[in-house]
Amino acid sequence: MSTTRTIERTLPALRTVEGGGFVVHRPFPTRLLMDFDPFLLLDEMGPVDYAPGEAKGAPDHPHRGFETVTYVLEGQFGHKDSAGHSGTLREGDVQWMTAGAGVVHSEMPDPEFTRTGGRVHGLQLWVNLPRRDKMIAPHYQEIASGKIPIAVSEDGRVRVKVIAGEALGVKAAIETRTPILYQHFSLQPGASVETAVPRDFRVFAYPLAGAGFYGADRTPVRAQQMVLFNDDGESVTLAAGDEPLEVLLIGGVPLKEPVVRYGPFVMNTEDEIRQAVIDYQAGRMGAITH
Ligand code: MN
Repeated sequence: MSTTRTIERTLPALRTVEGGGFVVHRPFPTRLLMDFDPFLLLDEMGPVDYAPGEAKGAPDHPHRGFETVTYVLEGQFGHKDSAGHSGTLREGDVQWMTAGAGVVHSEMPDPEFTRTGGRVHGLQLWVNLPRRDKMIAPHYQEIASGKIPIAVSEDGRVRVKVIAGEALGVKAAIETRTPILYQHFSLQPGASVETAVPRDFRVFAYPLAGAGFYGADRTPVRAQQMVLFNDDGESVTLAAGDEPLEVLLIGGVPLKEPVVRYGPFVMNTEDEIRQAVIDYQAGRMGAITH
């Protein structure tokens, strides 16, 4: 007999300013929640409407020891890195970047977008790497919007983009280093869904738009409030109120390893952090050719 998970607590996202000055809503890390093992950070970038010439981004910076997952909802994000890789992520696209031993990249709007301005809305999730994978060679998985598998409920009222893991019988195209689920559910008003989650996963929901009801006791939650589920069942229940509901469901198996952070480096020990700083300063993570 399966049971659907109850809610441990809900937390509001904090509004903050990041990188070159873009506005983010951040459910974690905050003083209330440092991480959600195996995840280190979730930023909702915008939504923000840029006037011509005002679009902001994050200029050249390094990463080591984890993965950054960028998911574009509206607008576009340009990117460029020290391995000579560059491109533009557009609406619905996902970039799963495994920084591993180290990469220097920039996340900036393209010149054309900067010129015209426009709306930007997206997400960045940081996925921690287990100790054994922290120093692997960096690599990317880029999945265009049209290549992301979609599942639809039997009644047709719930649609889910399966970025990682499996939902409603549909498997993701992306491969992850440890078991991860990352799913974007769209529910019509009044619709609900009970979706399976593996027993050993820690899972949270992050609603992007619309008020909804979550968990076994149908707790009402508004957008930009993180919902932390207890590990007490094999499914999660999501339900829309009178409006359409857009919500991310994210989970993974905890690494249960020490986490030492220093800005863009996340390792297991202080010594490894010192080494990361030395390697970055010595140019061993490369540099972007401008
Ligand atoms: Mn970055």
